[in-house]
Amino acid sequence: MKVLIIGGVAAGPKTAARLRRLDPDAEITVIERQDLLSYAGCGMPYYIEDIIKDYDQLLGGATIRDAEYFETQKGFTVHDQTEALKINRDTKTVTVKDLRTGETRDLHYDKLVLATGSSPFVPRMEGTELNGVHRLYNPHHAEAIKTAINLGCRKVAVVGGGLIGMETCGAFISRGCNTTVLEMMPTLVPNLMDEEMAQLLENYLVSKGVKVIKGSPAAKILDDGKGNAAAVETADGRRVEADMVILAIGVRPNTELAVEAGLEIGPTRAIAVNEYLQTSDPDIYAGGDCVECTHIMTGEKVFAPLGSTANKHGRVIADNIMGKEMKFPGVSGTAVFKLLDWNCGTTGLTEKKARSLGYDVVTTITPRCDYSSYIPGAKHTIIKLIADRATCKVLGCQVVGEGDGVKRIDVVATAIKFGSNVKGIADLDLGYAPAYSTAIDAIQHSANVLRNKIQGIAHGVSPIELKAKLDSDEEFILLDVRGKDECDAGGLKDPRVKNIPVNELKLRYNELPLDKEIITYCVIGVRAYIAERVLRGLGYEKARYLDGSLTSWPYPEYLN
Ligand SMILES: Cc1cc2nc3c(=O)[nH]c(=O)nc-3n(C[C@H](O)[C@H](O)[C@H](O)COP(=O)(O)OP(=O)(O)OC[C@H]3O[C@@H](n4cnc5c(N)ncnc54)[C@H](O)[C@@H]3O)c2cc1C
Repeated sequence: MKVLIIGGVAAGPKTAARLRRLDPDAEITVIERQDLLSYAGCGMPYYIEDIIKDYDQLLGGATIRDAEYFETQKGFTVHDQTEALKINRDTKTVTVKDLRTGETRDLHYDKLVLATGSSPFVPRMEGTELNGVHRLYNPHHAEAIKTAINLGCRKVAVVGGGLIGMETCGAFISRGCNTTVLEMMPTLVPNLMDEEMAQLLENYLVSKGVKVIKGSPAAKILDDGKGNAAAVETADGRRVEADMVILAIGVRPNTELAVEAGLEIGPTRAIAVNEYLQTSDPDIYAGGDCVECTHIMTGEKVFAPLGSTANKHGRVIADNIMGKEMKFPGVSGTAVFKLLDWNCGTTGLTEKKARSLGYDVVTTITPRCDYSSYIPGAKHTIIKLIADRATCKVLGCQVVGEGDGVKRIDVVATAIKFGSNVKGIADLDLGYAPAYSTAIDAIQHSANVLRNKIQGIAHGVSPIELKAKLDSDEEFILLDVRGKDECDAGGLKDPRVKNIPVNELKLRYNELPLDKEIITYCVIGVRAYIAERVLRGLGYEKARYLDGSLTSWPYPEYLN
């Protein structure tokens, strides 16, 4: 069996390594056009931040993953700096070119694997060729960016407020750079999070000194007259001074070889594969960033380029080549990222997407400590949990904050995979010790709140809904149920705010009209919910509480 693999970073070497373990005799060859192999691309922001100090760590650390390493340690052949030029399906060969010598030759395959990955999108705009304009795709790029910072580059514009934009932005702030993020959509991380969660993220960035420019695409990069980047200008005329510009506008699948070979390309413009990761030619498999995946909740084809998926693909492809009939079931949109001290993530559908699919959506936002608050170091994570009202099925989850929200994202990703409903999450036998969790874990608390809402026990108002009410002339009472001292220190500023501490509510409720809507709030929502229950018990049928209260309130302009 001759297996030829094109691409030597994640999906390619993973396929080769698994193949070798399954079949000691297979002839396995990997072709890679770059001079670096199997590098830790996901570690590059940490290298720029200087959490990873040694460049070699990105390449394997003590054992650099070069062609010799793969030959001697892993038992397969790698030709680096060798480009696959053409797939000749009729002869089952690939024409490859040695980029050092210029020599071309044809390599035969029984099974071919395309692990050609993706490339950063470089928009057609003026100035992308200037010095100081970077993409971040391989360790050479990371090294160039880090060197520029070390040499004194201090004004950075990150074009693109997605996952890679956020991670690199965190690295620049840590390095003391004056950083601006430009995002053409109205919110940051538009494909990952709903408006209020993205706004919390933005507030955090702003609190760290980052300037955020949204709602208009970067249109050109301006020259300093000597061939260096000097500023970025948006289509609506806003201008940001920058001596370094990072293009983080997303990636596009590398499909040229597949297209030329006549393989089917899917609706996302990535290579179409079946659940065995076979292309439209059964002898050609494809995996990693160059293929599209099926979303397990919607059945839609999605382009979800992630290292986690690429590695899983490699394993599945190898199994199938060896006749093991392994399916790749798809993805649920899970993505997590670190932004300075914040842990952020998403899984499943956003509320916006779920609504567009016709779900009767119910959501909750709950700030909660990641572990027992009496243990030093416990931090809040703000969790947005999304479910379908009719079936209680869990649809999605987003987290932001200093606390460990990523662990909770993994719980929800698991729940989604197994089709769980909200009760299923609340019932999970999760581990508890004060240093790891709370007796009812943060995500189970969210699930309980959502259940209360579905059962009509709790009646919440989302921050977005309240913002719309604050912007209107509507008559309602915004009831701050914190203590007077807390209120005096600041809260929502609006003439409709009234303060009655929750423990005085049973004595003072007749200060409130029965017929008006009352929205209670406090710090994290617990007292606000209790107040809502008290008021409802007293016949205030229009009482509701602000989801997540002040801790999760995303709009600083409404606070005093
Ligand atoms: C800054 C950054 C941070 C990231 N962080 C995360 C993270 O935290 N978590 C996560 O899951 N993912 C993360 N990712 C994404 C992850 O790195 C990619 O999803 C993963 O590398 C994809 O692996 P792949 O093997 O499919 O493709 P690639 O890594 O793109 O590798 C494909 C290789 O194929 C080679 N190739 C293409 N065409 C040819 C040809 N014709 N001939 C020879 N060789 C060819 C390319 O040169 C390339 O080296 C991050 C990416 C970046 C850039």
